[in-house]
Amino acid sequence: MPRALVTGGAGFIGSHLCDYLLAKGFSVIAMDNLITGDIANIAHVRNENFLFVKQDVTNYIYLEGPIDYILHFASPASPIDYLELPIQTLKVGSLGTHKALGLARDKKAAFLLASTSEVYGDPLEHPQKETYWGNVNPVGPRGVYDEAKRFSEALAMAYHRVHGVNVKIARIFNTYGPRMRVRDGRAIPEFISQALRGEPITVFGDGRQTRSFCYIADEIEGLFRLMTSDSNRPVNIGNPQEMTILDLAERIIKLTGSNSRIDFHPLPQDDPKVRQPDIGLARQLLQWEPRTSLDDGLAATIEYFRQRM
Ligand code: UDP
Repeated sequence: MPRALVTGGAGFIGSHLCDYLLAKGFSVIAMDNLITGDIANIAHVRNENFLFVKQDVTNYIYLEGPIDYILHFASPASPIDYLELPIQTLKVGSLGTHKALGLARDKKAAFLLASTSEVYGDPLEHPQKETYWGNVNPVGPRGVYDEAKRFSEALAMAYHRVHGVNVKIARIFNTYGPRMRVRDGRAIPEFISQALRGEPITVFGDGRQTRSFCYIADEIEGLFRLMTSDSNRPVNIGNPQEMTILDLAERIIKLTGSNSRIDFHPLPQDDPKVRQPDIGLARQLLQWEPRTSLDDGLAATIEYFRQRM
């Protein structure tokens, strides 16, 4: 039975990875310090091959026995979280990635890094291909996340080149679905919560900035295929269907049947103006592409939020 460690295993993407791996017959250790993760995300798991370890991954990790895969997903990931936790965000991306890679080297485990479209910053190339080097402001408020992830990628590649660690780098674009927090701060959970409460929808800027949203089940499938692939190159895993934030807000108002109005607020500093993955590489290497329509994914997410609110 293959054994996997998921750091950030009680988080949004991490907990879905745990479910997926358990269903595939893996033994799974979830590690999380619960600063943005939530034990409720894994409380449903009834499986003797599942273990939760409450630990900050920036500290030395000691685990007995073999580990075949390490999936490094621990990090604050919502802009409001990394603005509130800038030093923890930098530490988990640097010290935490170092500890997780050290463990991968020791256990001869394959290593999947949760990187991000944020490595492209406010992109000057559109859509973004893996060959694009990015346009990141290192000293701006988002720099703590962007640079931590860029450092993570550099460190992962150094461990691959120097120590032969079998490293995979997933550049994850905006992902949404059940288990996002009601007060997450990111556009989809924020807009759904506001619409369900009948409060104004807070669109930042003029709402003409774009994003491309991938449903969690599609994202997990792509991540698993990358984890078990032969490739050591960064690969974009996201949904190329691009839309404006204003269109997203209107779509959510319609699907929730809400009578919320839209309020415009100032655009946060360094907010990327456009974002869309080129997934040609994922299609070719992994035979993967997203399958869930935005309406279906939003419907499932809205249902989850209705039950929680
Ligand atoms: N956004 C917004 N209102 C909100 C939250 C986010 O208009 O209440 C905008 C944000 O400025 C950005 C886009 O929605 O342009 C996506 O933001 P999110 O925080 O989801 O992720 P990002 O892609 O910026 O990391």
